[in-house]
Amino acid sequence: MKRDSLITLTAAGLFCRQGGFYIDPWRPVDRAVVTHAHSDHAYRGSKHYLVTKEGEELARIRLDPEATISTLPYGRKKDINGVKVSFHPAGHILGSAQVRVEYRGEVWVVSGDYKLTPDPTCAPFEHVRCHNFITEATFGLPIYRWPPPEQVFGEISGWWRRNQEKGKASVIFAYSLGKAQRVLAGIDRSIGRIYTHGSVERLTQAYRRAGVDLAPTTYAGGVANKKEFVGSLIVGPPSAQATTWLRRFGTHSTGFASGWMLVRGARRQRAIDRGFVLSDHADWPELQTAIKETNAETVYVTHGFSEEVVRWLNENGMNAVPLKTQFVGDDAPELLDEESEGMAAPVLTEEGGKPLPKWKV
Ligand SMILES: [Zn+2]
Ligand SMILES: [Zn+2]
Repeated sequence: MKRDSLITLTAAGLFCRQGGFYIDPWRPVDRAVVTHAHSDHAYRGSKHYLVTKEGEELARIRLDPEATISTLPYGRKKDINGVKVSFHPAGHILGSAQVRVEYRGEVWVVSGDYKLTPDPTCAPFEHVRCHNFITEATFGLPIYRWPPPEQVFGEISGWWRRNQEKGKASVIFAYSLGKAQRVLAGIDRSIGRIYTHGSVERLTQAYRRAGVDLAPTTYAGGVANKKEFVGSLIVGPPSAQATTWLRRFGTHSTGFASGWMLVRGARRQRAIDRGFVLSDHADWPELQTAIKETNAETVYVTHGFSEEVVRWLNENGMNAVPLKTQFVGDDAPELLDEESEGMAAPVLTEEGGKPLPKWKV
């Protein structure tokens, strides 16, 4: 990334000098353009934010209540000091966007987090052509290939049904913003009642207000008679695992929905009964497709396995460079969430037991 290029990496994050704005800055700035409401992208403390119209309520929940927030619907261009800025669906969570930045014929796209797998809780990923593409690489290794979501939801529903037959509750842990709602959209809602942790319920209601069709839920904290939980499904954030919150549910089985569940040992390490492979990030084939479709001259790679993705792109004749952003807090995003502290990232070992590159925390 050249010093005088349209987007540069500064101590506060990705910066567009001509436009005078940052994209997902990790320090307080005057003008922040934000790709989505996950806490390692939507940092608090900036003076002014630009977010997608579709993600407005989630941004308001996650940012300071007094923050100045303006919105822009997907696909509409906004002129900021002569720079054209537009949001395009990233398919990651509700309202998530890639940011397209155009100045004097030069186009950059900052993808934020994204996936290509269909997801009924958000707009589908849009391929956007550009000269320079900045991509994440959270799951940028050939071992990461997601099973079809229908198969995974079938597994989750089957697990719930079997627990119910044994008179047990089923407690599934899922990242409270995005993953939990995806579970609620894909689960077989005819099986029984579904309860939620407070952090999940609040965001779920915001999804419903945005018109996303989700299974009906009840806030678990408001239930007086604990017998109600017998045979039900309870959706909670990963941070609620191993806490007293679980006690009220009586005999139960635990499940975890995350891309990391593909890694052998991740489930056992966390003392979870069942792991379900469900990710809101692109897997290895999706990363390749997304990158190719941009037709970019240069690809900048951040997050996770950036070195490995860069090597693969270079070997395949593409100009790619790793970019050391501070989105590293997101590296274990699906195991950790903002309410959890000090939880260890999974030890990654390939099927043969060969250790994978060390995790940056
Ligand atoms: Zn994210
Ligand atoms: Zn991220």
